[in-house]
Amino acid sequence: MKNYATFYLLSKLFLLFKFGYNGWMYYSTFEDFKNACGYTIDGLWYPRVTSIVGMKAKPGLYKFYAEQESFEAGEAIKAKSAEEGTLIHEVVEAILQGEKPVVPETIRPAIEAFYKFLESNRVKPLKIEERLVSKNHRYSGTLDVLAEINDKVGVLDIKTSYSIFRDYGIQTSAYVEAIHEAEVFPYLTRWILRLDQYQKCANCSAILRTKGGNLKIRKGGLNCQHQWSEVIGELELKELPDYKHDFQAFLACKTLWEWENSFWLSRVR
Ligand SMILES: [Zn+2]
Repeated sequence: MKNYATFYLLSKLFLLFKFGYNGWMYYSTFEDFKNACGYTIDGLWYPRVTSIVGMKAKPGLYKFYAEQESFEAGEAIKAKSAEEGTLIHEVVEAILQGEKPVVPETIRPAIEAFYKFLESNRVKPLKIEERLVSKNHRYSGTLDVLAEINDKVGVLDIKTSYSIFRDYGIQTSAYVEAIHEAEVFPYLTRWILRLDQYQKCANCSAILRTKGGNLKIRKGGLNCQHQWSEVIGELELKELPDYKHDFQAFLACKTLWEWENSFWLSRVR
C-alpha cells in the first residue's frame, strides 16, 4: 500500500513536470483525458471535433487576455460568456423543436431577432443536437442543427460571437464529412447563424457589447459622452459553400492534435 502511494505520487509529479506547463493541457489521468477530449461510442473512444479544432492558434485570444486585469479575470469572462452562449443554444433549439420556451430577459433581443428570421425564411429542422461519428477519420462531434433553409439542406451552427470567424468553417466541415459518411445526401451546405446583442451610441458610431459581463466598446468617438440605446438583437446568417478545403484544414488540425496528445493516445485502443 505504501509503495503504491509512493508510485502514485511520483507518477503525478512526473506528469506535472512533463505536461504541467500548459494549464489546460494537463490531465491527471487517462480517464480525465478521455472525458475532456472525446466521446466513447459503442465501446470505442473518439476525439471530439471541438477539441481537435482547439489546436489552431487564436491570436485574438492573446489580445483578449492582455486587456483583462488577470488571467483568472479573463477565464471568468470566458466562462460567463460560454454560459450565455449555451442559454441561447438551448432556447433556439427548443424553438426549432416547436416548443415555446420561456425566454430569459438577458437574451430576449437575440431571440426576437431569431423569431423574425423564422418569419421571413422557410426553415425546417431535420436533426437537432445529434452526435456524429466519422469512423473513417475517427472523430466525433455534436451537431447543432441539420436544416432545410429556403430549399437548401445543410449544417447550421449557432454562434454567439461578435463576428463570424474562418475557424467555424473548419469545425463545420467535420460535421458535413461525418454526415456524408453515414447518410446519402446529394449536397450539404453549411451556415453559421450568429446571434448577438449590442447597444449603439446616439451621438457617435460606438457599439457596446457586454458579453460575459465584459464591457467592450468598438469604434466610436474618443471624446463622446456615449448615450447607449436599448439592447438590440443581431442576427447574421452566412453560408459557407464548399467544405472540402476546410476539411483539409481540419485533418491538419487533427494531425497536430494527435502529436500534442501522443502520450495519452498511445493508451487508446
Ligand atoms: Zn458615442
